[in-house]
Amino acid sequence: MLNSWKYFAATMAGAHKVTLHTQHGTQILQADASAIGRFVFDGPEQSFLGDWHIELSKDSPDAANLQEAASRLRDTDIPVAFPTETVYGLGADATRSAAVRGIYSAKGRPSDNPLIIHISSLSNLRRLLAPKTPSVSGLETPPDPVPPIYYPLISRFWPGPLTILLPLPTPSPLAAEVTASLPTVAVRMPSSTLALALIHLANVPIAAPSANASSKPSPTTAAHVLHDLSGRIDLILDGGPCGVGVESTVVDGLVNPPVILRPGGVSIDMLRSCPGWENVQVEYKDGAETRTPRAPGMKYKHYSPNARVLLFRGQMDAECAKRYLGKGTRIGVLTTKTWQKEPLQSVSRIPGEPSTSTVNSHVINGYRRAHEARECRGSEPAIAEIMPSLMPVPIPSAQYSRIELSDQDIYEVWTVGLGQSTAGIARGLFSALRELDQKGVDIIFVEGIDDNEGHAAAAIMNRLRKAAEAEIVL
Ligand code: AMP
Ligand code: MG
Repeated sequence: MLNSWKYFAATMAGAHKVTLHTQHGTQILQADASAIGRFVFDGPEQSFLGDWHIELSKDSPDAANLQEAASRLRDTDIPVAFPTETVYGLGADATRSAAVRGIYSAKGRPSDNPLIIHISSLSNLRRLLAPKTPSVSGLETPPDPVPPIYYPLISRFWPGPLTILLPLPTPSPLAAEVTASLPTVAVRMPSSTLALALIHLANVPIAAPSANASSKPSPTTAAHVLHDLSGRIDLILDGGPCGVGVESTVVDGLVNPPVILRPGGVSIDMLRSCPGWENVQVEYKDGAETRTPRAPGMKYKHYSPNARVLLFRGQMDAECAKRYLGKGTRIGVLTTKTWQKEPLQSVSRIPGEPSTSTVNSHVINGYRRAHEARECRGSEPAIAEIMPSLMPVPIPSAQYSRIELSDQDIYEVWTVGLGQSTAGIARGLFSALRELDQKGVDIIFVEGIDDNEGHAAAAIMNRLRKAAEAEIVL
């Protein structure tokens, strides 16, 4: 889709900014996290969990673009799309109603589905949550507004793909639209250094759901955002493809035992290894919801390409595929751990037909950098569990062929091989669903994985079950 837009690169006189314009007026500003400047850790923690600031590089177009995005967040009511390590977010100042309403209208998001706020500093979060009433004597230290149950999670997984539920203070400095009238607010500190720098420069908490049109697969590149929101927002900050590829894990530690409201980049096993979280329960449902879910967003249709999606457990073959095909059905196939690379083509591929395979190498936006300081001090390198590979990362693309399943029944097939690593499958999943949609396939056969294998496996299967009309065990 990206290629069909008329782009032109322009260097804006004076500002030295590389900009890409689309015909609908949505502007893409590129920012390479490694070229924006220097992060300086001011506190004893020497990490993003303590106090920090950024010294922006002078004359850096990346830094100028970052500043432009930050000032739009501060000064306008039109949301700005930006990369995080999970997926692209659609951000707005969480303290201003008009700005937050802009998110709901750009996405077409139901207003009863609350937003996650993104912060760049724990001290700012504490200031946001601290009750305004002074202590009686004026000398007592007020209680920490972050409940201690979350300390082990914060020290291990922040910054990173974990969202925690916190009590909403009264009065609340947040716009009412952020929390959709719930008494709690969902908060996360992203580990993408570009996202952290953007929030820091905007100097406000940023409400940010995924930057897709509601119900569509979440975006993991700027091109995905453009496809869904072109003409609906003014600015996309392009920091390259997202490293994790599925959204954050959402947990509620305010109830006993604590619960997982949405599976994501941090697995249940990783949570269970933290003190106080050994008995964490699963509160989300993968299939259709039968009652009001605690995370309101989980009841909505989600992650859905236009094509029918069928999720399989076990080995798919031509006989099985034929049951779901009509004459001329255009087929998409998404393989993961065990299916042959071309499960249908290998049955009876038509000789001489074109087959294209491309692997795009991308440099993903910074993830490890956010954890370097902690790792240097020898504390637990939790990040290696979440995203083991370093950049650059190949993003697989569709391979085309035509096959004959039985006499004269010829089908066009596009196959995306997501590879065998769970992290790679998570990273490529939404991109693959979107690419197959753009090829115009009618049906997508997906090879499921074992949800219990840890890492992002449960999140992958949760998203696939929500996208699929059926899960078929072969
Ligand atoms: P998204 O930002 O699109 O990735 O979705 C955010 C998810 O967090 C949705 O499933 C929301 O329902 C959920 N969420 C946000 N705030 C709360 C809250 N206060 N309580 C429970 N779930 C929440
Ligand atoms: Mg979303």
